[in-house]
Amino acid sequence: MSARKKILITGSAGFLGSHLCDRFINEGFHVIGMDNLITGRMANIEHLLPKEEFEFYRQDVSKFIHIPGELHYILHFASPASPIDYLKIPIQTLKVGSLGVHHCLGLAKEKKARILIASTSEVYGDPEVHPQTESYWGHVNPVGPRGVYDEAKRFQEAMTMAYHTYHGLEIRIARIFNTYGPRMRLNDGRALPAFIGQALRGEDLTVFGDGSQTRSFCYVDDLVEGIYRLLLSDYSQPVNLGNPEEITILDFANEIVKLTNTEQRITFKDLPQDDPRQRRPDISLAQEVLGWKPIVGREEGLSKTYDYFKALPETEWYQMDHKQFDQFITK
Ligand code: UDP
Repeated sequence: MSARKKILITGSAGFLGSHLCDRFINEGFHVIGMDNLITGRMANIEHLLPKEEFEFYRQDVSKFIHIPGELHYILHFASPASPIDYLKIPIQTLKVGSLGVHHCLGLAKEKKARILIASTSEVYGDPEVHPQTESYWGHVNPVGPRGVYDEAKRFQEAMTMAYHTYHGLEIRIARIFNTYGPRMRLNDGRALPAFIGQALRGEDLTVFGDGSQTRSFCYVDDLVEGIYRLLLSDYSQPVNLGNPEEITILDFANEIVKLTNTEQRITFKDLPQDDPRQRRPDISLAQEVLGWKPIVGREEGLSKTYDYFKALPETEWYQMDHKQFDQFITK
């Protein structure tokens, strides 16, 4: 029997999930990856498949899940995570945050495993408090286009906390703010892959609204470090994880133009409904309980991310459709 601790990572073929698989394998864990590949991509974890300390289940966590033998930790990261994705697959988004988390919590209880769930800054909605602290309850439109994601994640937090208070389950809740890095999907509609994809294809960059809305972008390695520390901490209330350096989307688009050294212009499109006006995490709590703060600046992070996308086969820059969804979706 291996002495390695076993960890299940749902959404393991996704952007964050795959980086977490890498990290936990490097830390000496046995990693069980699970993904239904609706938005995840095997290419993100192909390099792990030959490893003995990695196994992969292609499975939908919204249906009953079973893992044989011991299990010590669960990271629930399965979910569509971009506005385009959850507009396209709203019901799956709701299911993975509700039925999916219920299955993970049930499994954690059965195995006496500690579970960390991926929550989001979207629980704060279009925030009226700035920067956002964990004590803020949010400003969410439940029936708007983002409602399926925001409410699924809010339900997920409530359900997880109920398993903690009622069953004594060991829980951790990460409220993840905008994160970027290699392995994002170029066609997921989020600002960073959208801008880089446009620059690579020689198209104009599309800024929504007048670009005065703000976000705060965290490089993936920093986020993974925060998740790792949170999982191993003894803190069971929600913790914000993100980079507090705030920028307007227009300035961000200009940074990408500069980085990619292209002649692209910026064009303006309508601001999507309920697009948050501002977002910046207050990370005092993470600093206090985890001794964590981001260390990778935007210049360094963006250049690593750009190098990744630039090195992809050119055909991938042009894969803009969402065909891949249709074959997997059950309503
Ligand atoms: N955005 C944009 N152009 C794009 C894609 C996104 O201006 O092609 C804007 C979007 O309206 C939002 C910001 O960039 O204000 C960040 O969007 P993203 O989808 O990355 O994340 P979220 O809105 O969920 O924070």
